[in-house]
Amino acid sequence: MLRHHIELQNSIGRDIEGRMRAGRLVSDDLVNRLVEERIQQPDCRDGFILDGYPRTLNQAAVLRDLAVARGIDPSVVYLVVDHDKLVARLSGRRQCPVCGTLYSRLTNPPKAPGVCDLDGATLVTREDDRESVIRERLEQYELQTRPLLEYFQRVGVAMVEIQGAGAAPGAITESICEKLALSGRTVK
Ligand SMILES: [Zn+2]
Repeated sequence: MLRHHIELQNSIGRDIEGRMRAGRLVSDDLVNRLVEERIQQPDCRDGFILDGYPRTLNQAAVLRDLAVARGIDPSVVYLVVDHDKLVARLSGRRQCPVCGTLYSRLTNPPKAPGVCDLDGATLVTREDDRESVIRERLEQYELQTRPLLEYFQRVGVAMVEIQGAGAAPGAITESICEKLALSGRTVK
């Protein structure tokens, strides 16, 4: 959603871009507003997944109010990954500047090093995938986002915990669906 606004190059997009470059979080009010608008779209009627949101207690509280007002009973999926593994994974990520395809040195490298499989463009490191920016994001996570685990427990939001490293993405998806089903959720 944030990238979509950046591409539109509107004033919201420019504000977001500056903050993301510096590894800082976009303001709560702005993100909350974007989420509230987005989940009212028709494609969210039967449910939706929010990835990377909420990241602060304020966002979590706003989301909870939104959910209660709309009769939504949310589940939290907590993916546990060692920070050093995250840094290795993200700093090894390269993107095609032409078609936007993401490659990873570790999990899905391009056929020829540094070149997009689809159009032959030279791959680049995204600004927010530089190691210093990733470390900054992880520090922000510890300060602002980790407290949400306790918050969700306190307010009684269902939570499933998944080991998010060491298995293929498909296997992790499966265990997320299994654990959600075990906690009585319908997964499509
Ligand atoms: Zn490409």
